[in-house]
Amino acid sequence: MTRYIFVTGGVVSSLGKGIISASIGKLLQSRGYTITIQKFDPYINIDPGTLNPYEHGECYVTVDGMETDLDLGHYERFTGIRTTRSNSVTTGRIYKTVIDKERRGDYLGKTIQVVPHVTDEIKRRMLREEEVDFVITEIGGTIGDIESAPFLEAIRQLKWELGNRAVSVHLTYVPYLKAADELKTKPTQHSVKEMQGMGIQPDVLVLRTEKHLSDSIRQKVASFCNVDLECVVQSEDMPSIYEVPVSMQQQGLDAAILRKFGIPVGEMPSMTSWHHFLELQRSAKTEVHVGLVGKYDLQDAYKSIRESLNLAGIYNHVKVKIEFINSEQLTKDNIEEKLSTVSGVLICPGFGQRGIEGKIKAVEYARKKNIPTFGICLGMQMMVIEFARNVLGYQDANSREMDAETPHNVIDIMEEQKTITNMGGTMRLGAYDCVLRKGSRVAAIYDSLQISERHRHRFEFNNYYKNEFEKNGMQCVGLNPESDLVEIVEIPEHRWFIGTQFHPEYSSTVLHPHPLFMNFIKEIAK
Ligand code: GLN
Repeated sequence: MTRYIFVTGGVVSSLGKGIISASIGKLLQSRGYTITIQKFDPYINIDPGTLNPYEHGECYVTVDGMETDLDLGHYERFTGIRTTRSNSVTTGRIYKTVIDKERRGDYLGKTIQVVPHVTDEIKRRMLREEEVDFVITEIGGTIGDIESAPFLEAIRQLKWELGNRAVSVHLTYVPYLKAADELKTKPTQHSVKEMQGMGIQPDVLVLRTEKHLSDSIRQKVASFCNVDLECVVQSEDMPSIYEVPVSMQQQGLDAAILRKFGIPVGEMPSMTSWHHFLELQRSAKTEVHVGLVGKYDLQDAYKSIRESLNLAGIYNHVKVKIEFINSEQLTKDNIEEKLSTVSGVLICPGFGQRGIEGKIKAVEYARKKNIPTFGICLGMQMMVIEFARNVLGYQDANSREMDAETPHNVIDIMEEQKTITNMGGTMRLGAYDCVLRKGSRVAAIYDSLQISERHRHRFEFNNYYKNEFEKNGMQCVGLNPESDLVEIVEIPEHRWFIGTQFHPEYSSTVLHPHPLFMNFIKEIAK
């Protein structure tokens, strides 16, 4: 019998609903339950694939090729479970399904309305088809937003229909007013009232706070909001997001949820590997500095890369300090100074012309100085272009993406992309197999010759130049078995110089950090 947990947020955005949802998933999973976590976003885009990272942070890609919200990255990193396209739903997708059905004539004779047609489609997706013990559904946005109203109406109906098979977890904020030296519960009361006004009584409240909340504050919230005291937990600021599941467990969040479902709670699971990881994290003191060369100066824009670096650091017993280096501001004159403090360089993925010359300069500097260099997607393409310009001597080498006329298109558009006109969801997306060259550094790192990794791109290494690159020292050591697309380049002579056309950062998890990130940091930490 599947049970449903709905996670909503109130008062302000950015409270970390994704972390709380992932933590609930983790805790239930460690009790032996099967779970899945899905995100419902109220915006009208079909997916975040066409959004600027400044709008919505990184775009995360599932194995089956859906471009999704970055919270799915948290779900995967925390639980180790692979998400799929059905774990990410937007208002746009809901409406598209409803409108397509209307055009097909599925509702012949009926007026199509938000209630019941749109809400029915939301409910259908919330209920899912697969067999798991718990489906955790996180609703994007904040209670009270016009956009999220149909999602909340769907939750109201499901709570009514499912009875004790549905539990609502509401995350709110308790601000601290410095001048009054007081923690304020009023915004939480209002947020809960707002939910009650929509017919939903939250069962569990998670209060985000910068300062510890006393029992009397929790008591006050409980009685004002019709919630049991044991169901009011606090989520204080933590030194690391990975401490959150443990803090939630200690306060009995999973136990409270189970009780709400009428499930016997049993013993608290020990979560040994998680605690082992936290121990390593707490004890990692030696700092290593990694330069993240990209154009979006926003924490969330390269979320999975940042997390992958941090996780790899922890398992290598070091604390990774990420220094963001804005590629748009990198010049021949300041490069030495900007990169002087880092022991490794990661060239970020991206799209379009802006900032790419700086990335190429960073690659050149790191290649010549023998500094460990990791290029991901566009980053790998920049490694190829730099090599073509400065080693092969093609000064005008470029990607067709940046210069449609370049005579040396060492990065070219993929054949299948040439006829594509729609921008949304049409890149080469999701996991593809890749065969590694025997004896290459990547084969040793993966300890395998067969891998599968996730992609998100339209452009590719141009095989016309392959021999020339290889003769001059850059090896194409990972190939797609069906198409011969080059997925990995490396310079064996260099201390550590690897570029991947795919995105390894999407599959690094807390308990299984990705081997490429692990090895990159290992080299840097030497
Ligand atoms: N813009 C490049 C391409 O489409 C790289 C994409 C990326 O870095 N994700 O091929």
